[in-house]
Amino acid sequence: MHKPLTALAILLAAAFALRADVLIVADEFPAMQVVAAKLKAEEKIDAKLVSQNELPADLSPFTAVIVYIHGALSEIAENAFIDYTRAGGKLVLLHHSISSGKRKNAYWFGFLGISLPEGEMASGGYKWIAGVTWDLVNLNPNHFIMTNRVHYPVRIVYSSASAASERASLPGFTLEHSEVYLNHVHTESRTLLMGLKFTDPSTGTVYLQDRAGWIKPAGKGTLIYLMPGHTPKDFENFRLMGFDGILVLDLKQKTAGSLAALTRLSRRVTRPGVSLPSGADAE
Ligand SMILES: [Zn+2]
Repeated sequence: MHKPLTALAILLAAAFALRADVLIVADEFPAMQVVAAKLKAEEKIDAKLVSQNELPADLSPFTAVIVYIHGALSEIAENAFIDYTRAGGKLVLLHHSISSGKRKNAYWFGFLGISLPEGEMASGGYKWIAGVTWDLVNLNPNHFIMTNRVHYPVRIVYSSASAASERASLPGFTLEHSEVYLNHVHTESRTLLMGLKFTDPSTGTVYLQDRAGWIKPAGKGTLIYLMPGHTPKDFENFRLMGFDGILVLDLKQKTAGSLAALTRLSRRVTRPGVSLPSGADAE
């Protein structure tokens, strides 16, 4: 008579146990302390914050690994991140995880399907510009990451080169005293999430580039890139950057079987704090 209840308890325990910690690997810590605090306060997720010299031997238990490395990316960390992702992990790359200093890594840009061309910005060369204001727009309003508990404060006039779309007013947000990266080149296709709009104050040139956020499969795992992150203040836009969707999406994939079973056992079970819409795009 109590069997269904026992089974339910076991399944509930399994579903929650799967919500493992997130690992943050950084070389500048104040911004990542903001992220860790938001993960705890808004997502009830514990984050372990380490430098790349302190990487755990096994990354596989972590629900997601967040990378925020400004300086040189060590070969050991590079390989650990690649192996973790290919084996099924979720690697969240922030801001300067794609930057010119990583050109010298043997595998990193090839793994990401990225190149940063040398040369003048006007002729397509990669360029970083700090201390500026720039906008991000939602390019993918049907994607789970871009919709889950995200409410953009403004609309921004934008036209997407990739989609060859008309000029449109898209939902988005603005970063001030931040840093923008121009002319990221994608050498492989991926699902685009966010575009950037930047007006170069020295020339008046307006840059519209579909490169501020994306998601891409890699082996059995997933790569996600979010361009914001120059200062701790950028991460006050934690939810607008899609963090909630990224982390819930991960939970959804790992607990899909358990949750289906839970639904069959009891339709009265609710899971406070976790929103799992059906039919979400899991790409
Ligand atoms: Zn920066």
